[in-house]
Amino acid sequence: MNLHEYQGKSILKSFGVAIQEGIVAETPEQAVEAAKELQKQTGTGWWVVKSQIHAGGRGKGKIVGTEQRGVQLAKSLDDVKNISQAILGNVLVTLQTGEKGKKVNKVLIAQDVYYPGPEAHKEFYMSVLLDRGRGRNVIVYSTEGGMNIEEVAEHTPHLIHREEIDPKVGLRDFQARRIAFNLGLAGDSFKSMISFVKSLYKAYESIDASLFEINPLFKTSDGKIIAVDSKVTIDGNGLIRHKDIAEMRDTSEEDPTEVEAGSYGLNYVKLDGNVGCMVNGAGLAMATMDIIKLSGGDPANFLDVGGTANAARVEQAFRIILRDEKVKAILVNIFGGIVRCDRVAQGIVDAYKNIGNIQVPIIVRLQGTNAEEAKKIITESGLKVYSAIELQEAADLVKQVVKN
Ligand code: GDP
Ligand code: MN
Repeated sequence: MNLHEYQGKSILKSFGVAIQEGIVAETPEQAVEAAKELQKQTGTGWWVVKSQIHAGGRGKGKIVGTEQRGVQLAKSLDDVKNISQAILGNVLVTLQTGEKGKKVNKVLIAQDVYYPGPEAHKEFYMSVLLDRGRGRNVIVYSTEGGMNIEEVAEHTPHLIHREEIDPKVGLRDFQARRIAFNLGLAGDSFKSMISFVKSLYKAYESIDASLFEINPLFKTSDGKIIAVDSKVTIDGNGLIRHKDIAEMRDTSEEDPTEVEAGSYGLNYVKLDGNVGCMVNGAGLAMATMDIIKLSGGDPANFLDVGGTANAARVEQAFRIILRDEKVKAILVNIFGGIVRCDRVAQGIVDAYKNIGNIQVPIIVRLQGTNAEEAKKIITESGLKVYSAIELQEAADLVKQVVKN
């Protein structure tokens, strides 16, 4: 699950990570109030108005049909109002949103921390993430922060450093010192960076995050280290331990079909291919996608109907898969362990009739308890459903129908 910048920053702050302070607003009037309040709290004379969407590149992105950027400096309360007015309720397109863009429902009014100018401050880059290949968390950091980290990675990869963390012992003091040293810091900002890194890593581990990206990680003109931006991704499976964070979910930022599928207990991820799949169990779903690929098709989705695979769920799953116009065939691959294959087969036949007018061929592979009976039910239903027991058989059928 992804969070907005303002939500990520509030979590970081609660772990003692220093941040650029800000207050979120949903209307231009609220934005002005937020700016006044922030002035009281921090003494700031200028503000930055920051679009809150689940995508980066906002600083360079533009509001559709205008020259307005997604992040802008405001030098007066009038600026705060006008910029918020220009952004709120409109669509922001950035390199990460695709051309469709994302609607901005909230702005973060943040204190301007860049004053008095570029000679006095410095932008770094830092992220914490899980390196699955190495089986470890890693802190990735660079002196070259700001808005072009992708270009730094491409043209000057030696300027990007990594610090791997042993999960048994956690982040060690010498590692935090090495990071501060490699970032060229000394004196107070060296110390400030060490405490920043330690509290950042503590926050990352504590909330079951899978990604923190702080860009820019910022050294102020008086040597303090603060997070000016935050991208936070949390492992969805960890949310059960963090009710307060689970409540921060903003479904308006997610794919509506995936959200709907979730509400039926279906684990659905939309992909770009032409073969829809409906499978029970995530592991089998992955293997099914592989076999589709090996047969010359391309999976249109990942869909795990869960352990029960009852008739109602099967029907919802069909409806969701069929909404995708690219789908040319559907492969149903269910292993009947606790769930009996004949029940699932009947569920498929019923769903087929209920939905009505299904044009794409459906290939059903049911294996396990009562597989033979299941095959019989499907064959005798008279519907345009192909039945297979062996996976290879199913894959060959997929190949045939996708070719036609
Ligand atoms: P992103 O473009 O989506 O990654 O959004 P960021 O939060 O990183 O902000 C984009 C850019 O806005 C930063 O790289 C800065 O150049 C600028 N910015 C952010 N905070 C301030 C600030 O306090 N003062 C000024 N002048 N610029 C800021
Ligand atoms: Mn950024």
